[in-house]
Amino acid sequence: MVKGLERYEAILSGAEKPKYLQAKETGLLDEKLAEAERIMQACEFCERKCKVNRLADETGFCACAHKAKVFGAFAHFGEEPELVPSATIFFSGCTMRCIYCQNAPESITPALGTYWSEPKIAEWIELMYKKGCKNVNFVGGDPTPYTYNILKALSYCNAPIPVVWNSNAYYSEKTARVLQGIVDVYLLDFRYFSNECAVKYSSAPNYVQAAKRNFLLAAEDAELIVRVLVMPSHIECCAKPILKWLAENLGKDVRVNIMDQYWPAFNAHKFPEMSRRLYPEEFAHVMHYARKIGLKNIVP
Ligand code: SF4
Repeated sequence: MVKGLERYEAILSGAEKPKYLQAKETGLLDEKLAEAERIMQACEFCERKCKVNRLADETGFCACAHKAKVFGAFAHFGEEPELVPSATIFFSGCTMRCIYCQNAPESITPALGTYWSEPKIAEWIELMYKKGCKNVNFVGGDPTPYTYNILKALSYCNAPIPVVWNSNAYYSEKTARVLQGIVDVYLLDFRYFSNECAVKYSSAPNYVQAAKRNFLLAAEDAELIVRVLVMPSHIECCAKPILKWLAENLGKDVRVNIMDQYWPAFNAHKFPEMSRRLYPEEFAHVMHYARKIGLKNIVP
C-alpha cells in the first residue's frame, strides 16, 4: 500500500466511494457546479482572474471559451506507478506558458482541440472504467479553465472511479474551494520557488504564493502527489527550496515525484540556460538533498 494514498486504494478495492459520487448523493456536486457556473461568467478559475464571461464565449489568456476542447484521451501508462493505467483526458488550453512545453501547440491552443460535450466525457470515463483504468485523470494544458465542464461531466457519470486533478497548481483559491469534496487525488506540479523564474519561463505572476496556498488546501482536502520537475540551472532557486517547503509544510511523508525528464522543447532554445537536458549530477544532487532533509515517500 502506498503511504498517503490509503483512501485512493480503498476506492479501488470498492471499500469506499469516490468523492464525486458521494457529492452527488448529498447535493454537494450541484452546489459546486452552480458556483463553477458563476465563476464562468467572470472567469477567475486561475490566478490570472481575467474576469471574462466565458459562458458568452468571451476568452481570456487561456483562450478557452464555453465548450471543452480536447486534444487527446487514452489509457496512460506513463504516470506514477500507483495511478496506471490512468484514463487521461488532455484538455486544450493552459493557464501558463512554459517555454519548454512538450505538448505545445495543442496544449495551449483550444482552436486545435476537438469539442467534447459533457455527456461525451462522462460516457468516455465510464468506458475507460469498464476497460480497467484505475482513475480518471484530468490534465491539459491544464484542467483549470474547464473546471465547470469537468464538474458537469461528473454530474452525468456514475462510474465508481477516483478523480485525479492533474494541474500546474496555478488555479485560484475559488477553484481550490470548488474542487474540495470532489477530487480524490491531487497530482500537482510544483515548478518554481521564485516568481522571477515563474514569470520568465512560464508567464505566471504570483505563482509561488498561488502554489503554496493550493498545496495546503489540497492536502487538507484529499490525497496528494507532488511532481517536482528538476530543471537545468534551477536547483538552488527552485528545486531545493520547493522540497524544503514541502518537508516543512506538508510533512516528510508527503508523496513526491522528483523528475529528471526535462527536455528543451517548444521555445526553450531561445533561453540558453534552458536549452539543454539536466546533467545527471544535478539530478543526483537534488535526490541527495531530498533524502538529507528527510523526505521519505519519494516515487521510485
Ligand atoms: S482560466 Fe484563467 S486564463 Fe483562462 S480565462 Fe479564466 S482566469 Fe483567464
